[in-house]
Amino acid sequence: MNNFEQLGLNESLLSAIKDMGFENPSEIQQKAIPLLLEKDTDIVALAQTGTGKTAAFGFPLIQKIDVSNKNTQGLILSPTRELCLQIANEIKQYSKYVKGLHSVAVYGGASITEQAKDVKRGAQIIVATPGRMQDMINRGMVNIKNIQYCILDEADEMLNMGFYEDITSILADTPKEKSTWLFSATMPQEVARIAREFMKTPEEITVGHKNQGNTNVSHEFYLVSARDRYPALKRLADANPDIFSVVFCRTKRDTQSIAEKLIEDGYNAAALHGDLSQAQRDAVMKSFRGKQIQMLVATDVAARGIDVDDITHVVNYQLPDEIETYTHRSGRTGRAGKSGTSMVIVTKSELRKIQQIERIIKTKFEEKPVPSGIEICE
Ligand code: ADP
Ligand code: MG
Repeated sequence: MNNFEQLGLNESLLSAIKDMGFENPSEIQQKAIPLLLEKDTDIVALAQTGTGKTAAFGFPLIQKIDVSNKNTQGLILSPTRELCLQIANEIKQYSKYVKGLHSVAVYGGASITEQAKDVKRGAQIIVATPGRMQDMINRGMVNIKNIQYCILDEADEMLNMGFYEDITSILADTPKEKSTWLFSATMPQEVARIAREFMKTPEEITVGHKNQGNTNVSHEFYLVSARDRYPALKRLADANPDIFSVVFCRTKRDTQSIAEKLIEDGYNAAALHGDLSQAQRDAVMKSFRGKQIQMLVATDVAARGIDVDDITHVVNYQLPDEIETYTHRSGRTGRAGKSGTSMVIVTKSELRKIQQIERIIKTKFEEKPVPSGIEICE
């Protein structure tokens, strides 16, 4: 089943798919869409980042919504506000030819009363962060009695971020008679626990190997002394003049100061971290998406799950504390079949971490010298 027509999608969706320029369904879409359309079942779907999971649940969900009914029927939980907005946008694009379908994004940092009003206007689909959703439920701002489809997107990320309590309490509040669709890149113990406790013998779909990194991505490391970290970053940028990248730092403070230094040194950079206001974060994301920014310096939390096309390089200015986070960072590049490079700036004492990551991603790093800053002129 390698074309969309064969998957059982209706005309409205097929027209939207054509407009978006998707030619063939990805593997996870081929496996998940017919299954979800055919019957109301619980599923656990595992596929690496960038494989098209949003459409794998988005298309069948849209087709299953009863548009003549204004009740909330589908709930998508997602780890961050940026991702909520992104998914809500995708849902709008997918459903552009579906009359009467209304979806709303619900997330922290913006007015809860405005969001509640929007929901009341008749949102059949809510895309929410677990914290804000729980808040709305507690305040009686949303009717969840008619939810039939509950989607946990990027489940591993949500649990990593400490949303276990919120997720389980939301799942416990929604009707028993519903389908739960869990999508994740990896299957850590906490995800398995949610599946065990809240799902009824779910169908399992796996694409590729569990926990394996994206094969379109090549991994490189650059060994430097601690004080050469920043000069190395500049040289890497100089050596790749067309770079369009996310530069990961460990803390908000480093993120801010590295972005400031880069800007001062004439680079096209901006910071993205949790100390910025929502409006600032939205503005930064908009410029980055529009490619007005070449180097987005970000914390892991702020950059989580962001899907921006054509990112050429992921730069690990510092390695993450949790090695598993590396997979998510490097997954920001090499999306939708394109190739990308994940570069790590390391000091000698961190080399062990490189080996640990190699074991997790089952891929070897290439050690490369920091490009020379001296231009040779004849
Ligand atoms: P995931 O959630 O698995 O990380 P996304 O759903 O964010 O991946 O999709 C990654 C990118 O691939 C998006 O830009 C999306 O528009 C694109 N995409 C998804 N499905 C297809 C397809 N069938 N053909 C072409 N591009 C696709
Ligand atoms: Mg996703």
